[in-house]
Amino acid sequence: MAWFRSLIQVSAAARSVTKPRISDPFSYTLLSRFSSEPAPIHETPAPQPPIQYSGLGPTKPGEKPRVVVLGTGWAGCRLMKGLDTDIYDVVCVSPRNHMVFTPLLASTCVGTLEFRSVAEPIGRIQPAISREPGSYFFLSNCVGLEPDKHLVQCETVTDGAEPLKPWKFEISYDKLVIALGAKPTTFGIQGVEEHAIFLREVYHAQEIRRKLLLNLMLSDVPGVSEEEKSRLLHCVVVGGGPTGVEFSGELSDFIQRDVRQRYSHVKNYIHVTLIEANEILSSFDDRLRHYATKQLTKSGVRLVRGIVKDVKAQKIILNDGTEVPYGLLVWSTGVGPSPLVNSLPLSKAPGGRVGVDEWLRVPSVQDVYSIGDCSGFVESTGKPTLPALAQVAERQGKYLANLLNKIGKAGGGRANGAKEYKYEDPFVYKHLGSMATLGRYKALVDLRQSKDGKGLALAGFTSWFIWRSAYLTRVLSWRNRFYVAINWATTFVFGRDITRI
Ligand SMILES: Cc1cc2nc3c(=O)[nH]c(=O)nc-3n(C[C@H](O)[C@H](O)[C@H](O)COP(=O)(O)OP(=O)(O)OC[C@H]3O[C@@H](n4cnc5c(N)ncnc54)[C@H](O)[C@@H]3O)c2cc1C
Repeated sequence: MAWFRSLIQVSAAARSVTKPRISDPFSYTLLSRFSSEPAPIHETPAPQPPIQYSGLGPTKPGEKPRVVVLGTGWAGCRLMKGLDTDIYDVVCVSPRNHMVFTPLLASTCVGTLEFRSVAEPIGRIQPAISREPGSYFFLSNCVGLEPDKHLVQCETVTDGAEPLKPWKFEISYDKLVIALGAKPTTFGIQGVEEHAIFLREVYHAQEIRRKLLLNLMLSDVPGVSEEEKSRLLHCVVVGGGPTGVEFSGELSDFIQRDVRQRYSHVKNYIHVTLIEANEILSSFDDRLRHYATKQLTKSGVRLVRGIVKDVKAQKIILNDGTEVPYGLLVWSTGVGPSPLVNSLPLSKAPGGRVGVDEWLRVPSVQDVYSIGDCSGFVESTGKPTLPALAQVAERQGKYLANLLNKIGKAGGGRANGAKEYKYEDPFVYKHLGSMATLGRYKALVDLRQSKDGKGLALAGFTSWFIWRSAYLTRVLSWRNRFYVAINWATTFVFGRDITRI
């Protein structure tokens, strides 16, 4: 099959050659960037022209209007999937070229699932991005926005690739969708950024797995003191929301099923502590919460009520002065707006998210929309801020794709072209319920619309089965669905993959 793959690669390369280059006048600056001509020597300093960046200029008559999407998370990807590429060109800007299926991310940290099973390349989600002449994906960060000029400023992510240094470029948009997600909150606690690992991206999960396996192996070598062994193998999770609980559950399952067998020399040293300031899983009802507490305790997770005051390299200090040594520290205490979202010159919702109206438009500017964790309703709508959940982001992405398609079909796709468009059905969110897995074939399923509402609320093996089936069907592509199913089956039969590569 290798010859077949090479054939596909060669034909893909040939196709990519025919894709037009980024349009002028900006390409001149691009060329001058890499010019090998010596720079002219001026005796007196020459007057400096205003900085002009390379990039994509405004769309011209005859070209498709351009939708620029910032972010490849749940919201941005669902939107791109639904956009009609006969109407629009799609340009996506994000520092990662894939979407992360976050509900299954915790499972990758301990080898229940492989990393590739939860990462969906965006070229598969919206193939036009790799094929259409006017559609692109740029591995970059958005760093600024000029809504009056319909311009976004970006900076490349070069990840230290030599000889490239990050550089800036600009993109003109007809429609802009801000789907930048949120940043983990640290409450300004010192040392969190330096010493804790957040669990939001695939590389975080990789770092957790690497560190966990490294500590397991280090603690097994001769000469390590008892105290140091206990520290190395103490995994501390801060934050008792669904992510913190799911990760603790996965970890304890890993310890019970795999570490006890394969690292039996150190099995008595490894422990998981979950620190939470209030109740764990506060959005679930009391019965489910008590069940979760009982299950976690049964599987060896130590639940500690406390507030973290300070984080040092090898220990954390709680408000009451207790010192907790750790070998692995995972931080999962909720999210808030990123510094970029704070800096954008747009109206804001309570809590600092980008403010939107009922149609997910950003008021007071033209052609800017915002969806997912980075957006919230402006106060004048009278609507509450929606929870930072994949189901909100996904449904907003779907809704906005339909809305933009309708606008495009009605001839309003160009910049400032939708002023006369009659907006009808607003976005309405209906909560479908929450789920959380606890490890050891146990989970919680809460299908009520609110904590005090009526409806199905289950805990135990049936919930675990519902949890797995629901997420297997939610995985975006058949390829990843297949990977996930195979990973689950392999783990069930052979145990988790604990190779440290
Ligand atoms: C471990 C974990 C488990 C979760 N489990 C669940 C669950 O079971 N159920 C549920 O409903 N929700 C769950 N969530 C929450 C859910 O993942 C988020 O609500 C959802 O990802 C929000 O989607 P989003 O598109 O708004 O943001 P994100 O998915 O965070 O995507 C934001 C995107 O913006 C990009 N970006 C950031 N900065 C820039 C920039 N400057 N320029 C360009 N792009 C940028 C990022 O790279 C990313 O691609 C979980 C979250 C985590 C972390």
